[in-house]
Amino acid sequence: MNTPLASDGLVAVYEAPNRPFQLRRFPLREPRAGEVLVGVRMCTICRSDLHSYQGQRPNPTPGVLGHEIIGSIVALGEGMVADMRGEPLRVGDRVTWSEFFIPGDNWFSEVLDLPHKSPGVEKYGHLSADTAPHHHGGFGQYCYILPKSWILRLPDELSDAEATPINCGVATAVCIAEAADIGLGDTVVVQGLGLLGLYAAAIASARGAKRVIGLDTLPARRALGLRFGCTQVFDPAALSEDELVAQVRAQCPPAGADAAIELCGVPEVVSAGLAMLRTGGRYVLGGVVNPQSYVRLDLNLLLRKLITLRGVHNYHPRHLVQALDFVCAQRQRFPFGDLVDGRYGLDQVDQAMHDAAARRVLRAAIVP
Ligand SMILES: [Zn+2]
Repeated sequence: MNTPLASDGLVAVYEAPNRPFQLRRFPLREPRAGEVLVGVRMCTICRSDLHSYQGQRPNPTPGVLGHEIIGSIVALGEGMVADMRGEPLRVGDRVTWSEFFIPGDNWFSEVLDLPHKSPGVEKYGHLSADTAPHHHGGFGQYCYILPKSWILRLPDELSDAEATPINCGVATAVCIAEAADIGLGDTVVVQGLGLLGLYAAAIASARGAKRVIGLDTLPARRALGLRFGCTQVFDPAALSEDELVAQVRAQCPPAGADAAIELCGVPEVVSAGLAMLRTGGRYVLGGVVNPQSYVRLDLNLLLRKLITLRGVHNYHPRHLVQALDFVCAQRQRFPFGDLVDGRYGLDQVDQAMHDAAARRVLRAAIVP
């Protein structure tokens, strides 16, 4: 049974790139059929929120940011009785949900099995603040989960910090590990040990990789890599590209790495990553999300080495289920909760953005 709603709720509105967020009130209404209204419990700042804030990607202004969110159900719209696994949904339940929602069944969802690439797909934390129902991002007190989203109830044992990155960082890393086809006994190179790289390393290890080699220029992230499944770590800034490739390949007998994953957003690392692979190896791009990511490559190398090259952007709804199950199954082994290392109120989003941009924190969390 839904209880009476508050008349409105606060949103920290994104006014323009590099400008202070403004706290504004927007009205609340009862959720419509297919919708769920949640009170936001936590929203972690993803790198794409930072890119929007810094003006590196177009986002409508005034806008609502934040898509890596969990919330507690405040009210359920008609028909919303169960999550995507069939578990009943009730007022008060903690839930995660897909970072995107689609306009309905279409060729991409029904035939190509790529719902996340449907024409007209929209993402939480990417809409104008003027677009109803206004509460559609994580930097606010409330969020409407809109029709054609995928919802999962969260088990009680997961902490908010463990659960919040599941619907972006973890699910994307699960999709990347699937694209890289990581299996038992593989040697995997992860280029970049930010949040996605750390989850990718842990998932590679959990999928049975024998060696996981992490590359990052920051000592603190290399140290974290060793806690998240990496068997070796290297500082790519301390070596020439040829030396780095030689040292990594020396760890991948007899012929090079089975798979390499780019998660640092730097196009220039791709040639080194490809050179680390064995013949028949797999290379997955997961970090170069910005346009104009040009690079010079010897395509003959890909051809002769029979390399598979894949891009990953967002994820299929099945990866959300796998992400939740992975975190639940592996939480005793990997300290997922430690990755969320800064907490800020709704009136401190500017500070959180600055700390995240300066890499003073790995994952800043807004707790409205
Ligand atoms: Zn994200």
